[in-house]
Amino acid sequence: AKQALAHAKSVESLHIFLSLDEERILKQAKESDARRKAGKAGPLEGIPVSIKDNICEDGEQVTCASKFLENYRSPYSATVIHKLKEAGAVLFGRTNLDEFAMGSSTENSAFGVTRNPHDPERVPGGSSGGSAASVAAGVVPLSLGSDTGGSIRQPAAFCGIYGLKPTYGRVSRYGLVAFASSLDQIGPFARTADDTALLMSVLNGHDVADSTSHPLSNEQPVAAAPKAFTAAEWKKLKIGVQIPDAGEEGFDADVVKACAKLADELKSRGATIVPIKSKLWEYSIPIYYILATAEASSNLARFDGIRYGVRAKEAKNLIDLYVRSRTEGFGPEVKRRILLGTYVLSSGYYDAYYHQAEKARKMIRDEYRQFFSGVDLILQPTSPSTAFKIGEKADNPIAMYKSDLLTIAVNLGGVPSLNIPYGEDAAGLPIGMQVTGKHFEEDQILRFAKSLE
Ligand code: GLN
Repeated sequence: AKQALAHAKSVESLHIFLSLDEERILKQAKESDARRKAGKAGPLEGIPVSIKDNICEDGEQVTCASKFLENYRSPYSATVIHKLKEAGAVLFGRTNLDEFAMGSSTENSAFGVTRNPHDPERVPGGSSGGSAASVAAGVVPLSLGSDTGGSIRQPAAFCGIYGLKPTYGRVSRYGLVAFASSLDQIGPFARTADDTALLMSVLNGHDVADSTSHPLSNEQPVAAAPKAFTAAEWKKLKIGVQIPDAGEEGFDADVVKACAKLADELKSRGATIVPIKSKLWEYSIPIYYILATAEASSNLARFDGIRYGVRAKEAKNLIDLYVRSRTEGFGPEVKRRILLGTYVLSSGYYDAYYHQAEKARKMIRDEYRQFFSGVDLILQPTSPSTAFKIGEKADNPIAMYKSDLLTIAVNLGGVPSLNIPYGEDAAGLPIGMQVTGKHFEEDQILRFAKSLE
C-alpha cells in the first residue's frame, strides 16, 4: 500500500483519483498485516483496490464526479465493498468518472478529465476512466468499475488492460449509485486474466439486498484461477466473429486488422470461426439511449436538493428549491439525459419510444440466445477506435454516443463480456478485443483470455 501511495503521487498529473486518504489506507494496511501474522489472510489480503467514485463506501465521499454530491459522504457500504473487506483488500482511493457514469471519456467529470497513461493528451475512455487508468498506470493491480453500456470494457480497451462486464445479476448492485438499473453491473479491472478472475470470484454472489441479483451466481460461481484450453478443447470451440468491413465509417483500419489477425490465430489453434452478422446491433445505440435515459431520469429524481448533496440557497419555495438545486448541481450531459428520459416516458410518447425500445431489447436478448445455440463465444473489437484526443468529441454528443457501438448490445442482452488487450495501433496505442459469452459463463470467457496470454 505504501508503494502504491508513492506511485500514485508520481502520476498525479493524470488526475486519476478524486480522493486518496493516505491515513485511511495505511490504517487498513496495518490491519491487514496483523491478519496475515495471525494466519488469517484472505484471497486479496493486503492488495490495494481502487474504487470508482459511484460505489458507496461507509464514511467515504461518493461524488459520482458531480457537483451535486461534492460534499456527500455515504452512511453505508455497497455489498461489493463488504466482500472486498472480507477478502482482505485495502480500499485504495476513489477514482474519477464521467458524471453519474454518463459518458465515454471521463470528460464529463465535474472535477476535470483523467489522462490516458499511454498518452496524456488522450482520454482514458469512460465512464470508469479513473479506475482503468489507476490499473494501467501501475498504481494498483485491481480496480472496480461499473458498466451500463461499455464503461468497463471501453476504458479497459483504451488503457490496454482487462475489464469484465459480468452477466446482469451476477454482482450485487446494492450500494452502486443507479444510472440505468436494468443495465448497470459492477465489475473488475486488472492487468492479467488470472487477476481479473480472482477479483471476479470475490465480487460474485447472490444478494437479497438487490432484487435483480440472480441465484445462479451462487450455483455457478466464477473460478478464481482459469485454466487455459487444451488442444482438444480448442478443436471443439466455435467462435462467432463479427469483423467490421475495412473502411466502415468510424472504424480505425488498425482495429479491423487486429480483429482479423486474432480470428486467424484462433483458427490456427484449431477453433472453428463462424462469421456472424446481427440484424439488430446497429439499432443498439438508439434503443439504449431511450431505455438508459428513461431509467436515469427516474433514478436521478432522488437528487432533489433535500435528501442528498447540494441545496440551493436562495429558493423562494419548494418547487423553486428543486429547480435551483438541480440547475446548479447537474452538469450538461446529465441534464441532457434527464430531458431525453423524461420525454420518452411522457404520456403520448411512452408507447412510441419507451415501449418500442423495451420490445427491441427483448429481440436483442433473443438474438444472443440464438447466436449462442451455434457458437460458444463471440469476438469483436471493443471499440471502433483507439483512445481519442481530449476534446476531440467533447462538443459532439452523437459522435461520443457512436463510440459505444460495439459494447452496448451486450448490456441490452445481459450477457457477460470481457475486454482483452490485443496489440497496438501504428501510434502505439492499445487495441482491445471484446469476447462475449453465454449468460453466467464468465469462466469460459476467462479461460479464453488465459489461453491467449
Ligand atoms: N458511454 C455510455 C453512456 O454514456 C455508457 C456509460 C456506462 O456504461 N456507464 O451512457
